[in-house]
Amino acid sequence: MARLVMKFGGTSVADIDRIRNVARHVKREVDAGHQVAVVVSAMAGETNKLVALAREASPLHDAREYDAVVASGEQVSSGLLALVLQAMGVDARSWQGWQIPIRTDEAHSVARIVDIDGARLIERLEQNQVAVVAGFQGISPDNRIATLGRGGSDTSAVAIAAAIDADRCDIYTDVDGVYTTDPRIVARARRLEKVSFEEMLEMASLGAKVLQVRSVELAMVKGVRVMVRSSFEDPASVRDGANGLPHGTLICDEDEIVEQQVVTGIAYSKEEAQISIRGVADKPGVAADVFVRLADAHINVDMIVQNVSPDGSTTDITFTVPDASYDQAKQVIESARNTLTYTEIEGVRDVVKVSVVGVGMRSHAGVAARAFQALADRNINILAISTSEIKISVLIDQAYTELAVRTLHSVYGLDKQ
Ligand code: ADP
Ligand code: ASP
Ligand code: MG
Repeated sequence: MARLVMKFGGTSVADIDRIRNVARHVKREVDAGHQVAVVVSAMAGETNKLVALAREASPLHDAREYDAVVASGEQVSSGLLALVLQAMGVDARSWQGWQIPIRTDEAHSVARIVDIDGARLIERLEQNQVAVVAGFQGISPDNRIATLGRGGSDTSAVAIAAAIDADRCDIYTDVDGVYTTDPRIVARARRLEKVSFEEMLEMASLGAKVLQVRSVELAMVKGVRVMVRSSFEDPASVRDGANGLPHGTLICDEDEIVEQQVVTGIAYSKEEAQISIRGVADKPGVAADVFVRLADAHINVDMIVQNVSPDGSTTDITFTVPDASYDQAKQVIESARNTLTYTEIEGVRDVVKVSVVGVGMRSHAGVAARAFQALADRNINILAISTSEIKISVLIDQAYTELAVRTLHSVYGLDKQ
């Protein structure tokens, strides 16, 4: 007997037929003798609708009321799945975040889970009742519903797995695992059998939306075994693979991965914007002035390029921010005009960040050079570069996204044969 968390995303619970399919997956594990806690997302498209309604009601909305609205999608899907399970003869009940409770901090709309009391869930699991938990939500210190940021049900699932000491957290989605890049844009992407926590963390934070970043962070810190797998596999014919694991991708410690590639995957993010400040004074303290102001406004700066000053007196500083922070970032710089001298400020929003990720880069030279050469051969201009021990990111024109991702994918030998 094992204790499992099974998480199903929006497309997996998009309508009653799909919810029935999910219920069959759940029943399969129950019939195998396992204790099961299920975490569900809202039905596909529901959260987007709710977000749009909240924005329409008030563009500058109160984040607590926004949360009250957008959390409702998961209340519906958890209730529906519990109903379908009951109709199939499986003992089940739904749980909202506050009923468990899942406690969060006060950062409404992007809240972090601070604590989950697993006792009540465990009590019911031990009575062989399936717990169907509404993902994406918890309860804040002011006793209000709080949501965990888009894609947050992944994090709910991993946090619950840690709280109830589950043997595994299965993230069921619309693809059958984590691929070398988004399989929807590169047909030759390959499914990975295993990915290390560190690489998955990089891939997720660089744009691979298959798992929310925080869910990977949490899994790494709490040592939760996470498997990404398909909800569209026929529940009646699911068999474990040769390694004793289900078909999918296991997210695990680096040393569990025997054959390590130099490059594991390519990720991309279109939610980037570039800002250039031209003609700033080339003297100590200017960069500090710019970036402290942005930090004070809680704007995340990612890539930074400072040109060599042509005349020793002025230079240009270019950086990227999340596209959602673009207007605010420009405003911050413009409002500093009395102390920060510059000739002009320029912005570009149709840019994309394409990243090459792999722990093998630590011990291999020339990985970045290959990327630059491959992009040059395709005439793709690089606007900015940033690197870490295990990734290289380049900022390019958004029109070249697919070409760049495909090019890098084949240059590093990731294409499916
Ligand atoms: P869910 O609704 O189940 O949470 P998401 O849409 O959040 O599903 O995540 C699954 C999607 O992530 C896939 O449909 C796929 O297009 C996308 N994706 C992006 N990068 C990758 C990758 N490297 N491997 C697998 N899927 C990826
Ligand atoms: N329903 C929420 C969203 O669409 C949470 C999730 O699906 O993970 O962002
Ligand atoms: Mg998701």
